Amino acid sequence: MERKSQLTLWYWLGLIALLIGMQYYLFGSQVATIPYSDFKTLLVAGKVHQATIGPSSISAQIDIQGAKALLPAEEYKRIAATPALEGADTRRIVTDRVDDPQLTAELQAAHVRYSGTAENPWLRMLLGWVVPIGLLVLLWGWVMRRGAGGGSGLMMGVGQSRAKLYVESKTAVRFADVAGIDEAKQELEEVVQFLRNPERVRGLGGKIPKGVLIVGAPGTGKTLLAKAVAGEAGVPFLSISGSEFVEMFVGVGAARVRDLFAQAQQRAPCIIFIDELDALGKARGISGLSGNDEREQTLNQLLVQMDGFDSQNGVIILAATNRPEILDPALLRPGRFDRHVAIDRPDIKGREAILRVHAKNVVLSPAVDLAIVAAKTPGFAGADLANIVNEAALHAARANKKAVEPEDFDEAIDRVVAGLEKRNRVMNPKEKETVAYHEAGHALVAENRPHADRVSKISIIPRGIGALGYTQQLPTEDRYLLKRSELLDRLDVLLGGRVAEELVYGDVSTGAQDDLQRATDMARHMVTQYGMSERLGQVAFDAVRGGAFLSVPQTPQTVSYSEETARIIDEEVGRLIKDAHDRVAQTLTAHRAGLEALARLLLTQEVVDRAALDALLRTQTASAEALGAAGAQDAAAA
Ligand code: ADP
Ligand code: ZN
Repeated sequence: MERKSQLTLWYWLGLIALLIGMQYYLFGSQVATIPYSDFKTLLVAGKVHQATIGPSSISAQIDIQGAKALLPAEEYKRIAATPALEGADTRRIVTDRVDDPQLTAELQAAHVRYSGTAENPWLRMLLGWVVPIGLLVLLWGWVMRRGAGGGSGLMMGVGQSRAKLYVESKTAVRFADVAGIDEAKQELEEVVQFLRNPERVRGLGGKIPKGVLIVGAPGTGKTLLAKAVAGEAGVPFLSISGSEFVEMFVGVGAARVRDLFAQAQQRAPCIIFIDELDALGKARGISGLSGNDEREQTLNQLLVQMDGFDSQNGVIILAATNRPEILDPALLRPGRFDRHVAIDRPDIKGREAILRVHAKNVVLSPAVDLAIVAAKTPGFAGADLANIVNEAALHAARANKKAVEPEDFDEAIDRVVAGLEKRNRVMNPKEKETVAYHEAGHALVAENRPHADRVSKISIIPRGIGALGYTQQLPTEDRYLLKRSELLDRLDVLLGGRVAEELVYGDVSTGAQDDLQRATDMARHMVTQYGMSERLGQVAFDAVRGGAFLSVPQTPQTVSYSEETARIIDEEVGRLIKDAHDRVAQTLTAHRAGLEALARLLLTQEVVDRAALDALLRTQTASAEALGAAGAQDAAAA
């Protein structure tokens, strides 16, 4: 940025110099101005060869020898100093025209070739005034833009995204530079294949997504991944940030969108990358008081453009956001950003891989084990890890070391952690343990409920805002109807995390807030909408609420039942939750050893997949059976 603005400064200084030069050339000492009387003297003496008579001035070609003989010495010098234009012994001069009726007669008498000219006053005005003023306005606009921190682009040509659109014809980034997020890479491989060879994919009847939304926390490598897709496919990468679309002036953003897509069509096949899509695509109507007209117009334009073009042409739009929940649902409809790729913070193996990528160009001492560095950096995103390698190298360089030592990494981790802690992104070991028990609780309950979805992955790596860990369950089939028994099992799984914390610590944390909210909502739905409470019977009370993806504030609904009923509903909801709580406590007490083992595994590996969970559960049952057998033997011996 610093360097760029300096360049711009030089550009302006150069322009101004050019302007002054132009003035000088046109009106300056190129041609000497002499008094009218002197001009007449020369004319009468026959020293004028040619004259052009304008409305306010006369330009003439005079004999330099005549000037020497007839004019004052310093005036002759001035004239002689001007460049010879038409011949070595003549000079061109200018004189202000005086109202002189005899002039033409005298010109005639002296046999001078003369002509009149309208002396285009417009051109003179244009060059002398309009151009400099125009340049000044531009300069002013530039200064204003800098002052406002890149505010309005009005002065630089409304609607041209060129100023802020970054085109990289060929990015050097490859998939090999992106580590630790293999699933996301795999999902985008298809896009690469298409861009490389659109004909073939089209021939096979393959359907290519128009828009892919990359979702992930800041610094997890969304931009990097998008660039790598362009790099692998060898196509241009057009990138713009959502926040840059939205300008002060209504209509500018929409014009930019149009321009962007027009440019993309020209360069196809290519990739459009929109960073911070949420800045532009926030759901309409949740921005509060002043509806942001400009943003809405821009968003609408984006939707129109996306609908209007055909991905078969080879333009694919990638967008990144870390807040998918606030996006306008219209953006996520089929034919728009209907494909989603999630990037999680990397697990311990992923972190090691990322460290390896960034340590490629750093000399490491043999004592450095990147696996250990990875183990010390839970919750770090790719950008944080890149930062660590960089800091460690700097630290080593400051101490004049030949290679980066483990201490340098420790120092770097401390520094980066200090920075991250301010932003609340690192867990302390105690918190990590709590999260491990919590997630292990969810998972074990899910494993012990016949109607619950199977656990596919458990993680204690913070994901997004709010969630500290997560247990992923994959439904075995798509469901549209749920039985009461299934809902009850789901309720149990939701409570599993909190109950595990209770059992282990005799205390609970705030980490279960979201679980409780969801459990309560589910219980309430069971009572009020699905008629699943014996006490209230098959009655639906609340109107169905909309908005699955968005939490658009709902207008308070009119309650259509008595206070007595409301009290019973609350009691029934409470009872459902309490019963679930008791069932879960029983399950987890019975499987306490498994809970401990799973939590320990989570603490060391951070992510436990299905296979590892199966292995753990098998050893648990085996040891339980062994214990049981031992108990039986004891009993027999007694
Ligand atoms: P985001 O767009 O998600 O905020 P970036 O893609 O800008 O993150 O990542 C910033 C930098 O962090 C990258 O330029 C790269 O050096 C590093 N980085 C992030 N994720 C990874 C990764 N998975 N592998 C390698 N480097 C990464
Ligand atoms: Zn939970």
